[in-house]
Order: sequence, then structure tokens, then C-alpha cells
Amino acid sequence: MAKNDEQLNDEEAEIEDFITSILTQAVAERASDVHIEPYLGNIRIRFRIDGILQDRGSLPIEEMERILVKIKVMSNLDITRHNIPKDGHFRFAIQLSKEIYEKKKEKTPESLVPDVTSRLFAKSAYEKIREKEKISPAKAEAIILDIGKRPLDVRVSIFPTISGEAIVLRILNREEMIISLKDLGLNNNIFSTVKKMITRPYGMVLITGPAGAGKTTTLYAILREIKSDEKNIITLEDPVELFLEGVRQVQVNPGQGFDFAQGMRSILRQDPDAMMIGEIRDGETAENAIRSSLAGKIIFSTVHANTVIGTIARLLDMGVERSLIAYSLNGVISQRLVRKVCPDCKIVYSPGSEYLKYFGLENTPSRFVRGQGCDKCKKTGFLGRVGIFEVFEFDNGLRSLIVEKAPMRSLEEYVEGAGMKTLKQDAVEKILAGITTAEEAAKVV
Ligand SMILES: [Zn+2]
Repeated sequence: MAKNDEQLNDEEAEIEDFITSILTQAVAERASDVHIEPYLGNIRIRFRIDGILQDRGSLPIEEMERILVKIKVMSNLDITRHNIPKDGHFRFAIQLSKEIYEKKKEKTPESLVPDVTSRLFAKSAYEKIREKEKISPAKAEAIILDIGKRPLDVRVSIFPTISGEAIVLRILNREEMIISLKDLGLNNNIFSTVKKMITRPYGMVLITGPAGAGKTTTLYAILREIKSDEKNIITLEDPVELFLEGVRQVQVNPGQGFDFAQGMRSILRQDPDAMMIGEIRDGETAENAIRSSLAGKIIFSTVHANTVIGTIARLLDMGVERSLIAYSLNGVISQRLVRKVCPDCKIVYSPGSEYLKYFGLENTPSRFVRGQGCDKCKKTGFLGRVGIFEVFEFDNGLRSLIVEKAPMRSLEEYVEGAGMKTLKQDAVEKILAGITTAEEAAKVV
């Protein structure tokens, strides 16, 4: 039987309500990603929160097609092709729900955090934003904020799996990314060192660590720290994850031939004082960045390596000259992220002996804490994350060793001898302070 217009409109509204509901819930739970994954019999929905995927229910597989079509339409993607990966972006309005959520949660803890499934296709109480009105995006945004909504930017990845196209929605502009340099987890000494490295008028500061170590959040914190009306700050990013007022942010687009290397070739003509390059992946980008830094600009970027000395090795692998590395770098920040013990359910406990041994804490008369799991932390025992850092400001001693082709082992001995606290030592400090647990820290250092 053919569906009439009214039925079609209802279905359209239902799917919109579903997407509103799932994204509102994801934001309320501080999720960075929403996974919508088709399997043989059902669709699995998971949120990534504090770096860990958590199940948020399932839906009948029959709904997948409608969800896919809607998300593709919202992101201007081709709805007819199912066998190739697609990347897109959409802007959406959700209720400014964090405060409302917190308030209501006191009264009705369960009803406000239901599984996504129980809210599926429930008529949304939220007013729909009138996107069709002919007004500028800025005006639309002002109206949205006025009536208690906030714009949400979502990066979309659609990937063909053997059971259908899987969707990952990355939530951009997340509140947890708006964090000041002071709150990243740098202790006082390290904070002053970092501040010195980043406020120099020129040179390069690299942040290193594996994927998911919070490097981008640190880059944004640095830009917010140095930003001023007297400076022209330009970024090259893939993707732009957080919007910064007063910073010229540029999204690179490798598909269109506009990659980091291409961006670096033209960026100087924009007369920058400071530049942020999302990632240095190749020798050409590295050399261009280094030459800019030697020409009086300050450059911030990330490199995929594990430690401060590993970063030097990585740049050498890319074919960068030793003297360029030695004399352009102000310093390197190596980092990891660990989950913080939930303050609402923490208890004193004893970590396993293997962990105490690993961190050299066997004979430390100390109280260790962990979260036992409560409603607030969704039974995980953790709430939020903090960085673990290893920072070294380059000095003449290290520069000479690099130029003299000293083995990496000597470089490591040198920085430790010069008093650099290693990732492991910083982790120990945070375990003893009750910020994280030995088990959690052992996963990353
Ligand atoms: Zn808890």
C-alpha cells in the first residue's frame, strides 16, 4: 500500500527525533563518538566515553536503512552508493541540556538516562529549529542559542561492512575539549616549562603520543593560552575539532589535493605569527614547519611517537636533518590520557602486587583509591580523564648530542639526568594522589 504524505512526514519526524535524542544523550554523557553498527539481526548502538566504548542498546535491523538515508541526506552524501566509504559533516541543533539534565537527574535519575531504544521514535518534546528560514548562519545560531538550543557539529564516517554500512558520528566542539593549559594535568614545574616553551616568539613545540592520547586537546589549550589580538594564529587541521574565536582555522582536504604539505607551502603568505599543524606525517611537512620556525614563527604540531626521544628518532626517520631538529625545537611534550577515579564512589583498596612492583610502590605506605562504580560514573568507577606528561625543554647539551649523532640511548640518559620526569614517574604521582589507579595507568605507560 502506498504511503500517504502524512505517514511519510511522520516517519521523517520520527527519524529526526531519533537522531536528536541520540545526539542529545551523547552530549549529556560526554561521549566523543556515537557508533551505529549493523549486524545480522540488529543494530548495535555504542558511545565512546572517556576513551572506552559503552553499550547503549540495540534496534531492529530494519531501521538501519532509514537511519542511513537520513544521515546521508543531512551530510550531503550520495544515498545511492553503498559499497564505498564516505565522509561528511552536518550541523544540528540540540537542546542545551547539560544543566537541565543535571537538575532533573536529582529528581529522576533513571528516567532521564534511558537506553536510546526506549526513546526511539518517541515524539521529541523539543521544538524543531526552522532551518528553512532565510537567515544567515550567524543569525540562526543566535536564535538557536536564544531558545535554549546549541548548535552541534558532527563529523560523519560511513563504512561498508559485510553486514551493511556502519556509521560513526564524531561530536566536534565538545565541552571537554575546552580545557585550559592549567587544567590538563601538568604539575607546577612542568606547567612553567611548557609555558616558557610556547611563549617564545619562534621555534617549534611538538606534542607526541599514540592516537587517543589527547594531543589535539593540548594543542587547543596552547592556542587558547597564547592567543591575543596582536598575533595572527593560523591552523591546518584534519578535522577542525574545536572552534576557536580569533584563530584562523583551516580544514585540510587531502581528497582535493590540499594536504598538510600543500598547506605548509602557502601558509606563510598569510603572514602568521603562530601556526598549528594538526600532524606532521611526512618529511616535507616537517622540513617546511622547521624552516618556518627558524624564520621567526612559532609552530605547534603533533608527531606520532611514544616519548620525547622517540620524537627525535621519528623526525630523523622522516629524513629531517639533525641540525634542523636540534636548533628548531623548543621542546617536546609526550603525553597519555588516563581515566580519573570517580569522586562519588571512591574507596581505599590495594592494587595487585604486580602493579605495585611495576610502579616501584611495593614499600610505599600509601592509601590507594579506586571507584567502585555508581550511577554517576555508569558503574565504571571513572569519571573524566587527565593527562600524564613527560616534557623536555631542549637545551644546548641535548642539541650537541643530536648533532653529534649520539645514540638514542645516550639522549635518553641525558634528559633523565637533566631531571626530566618520565611518563611513568608522572603516573606514579597521580596514582599516589588518588587521581587515577595503578591498573589504569599501567595500560598507557
Ligand atoms: Zn562513581
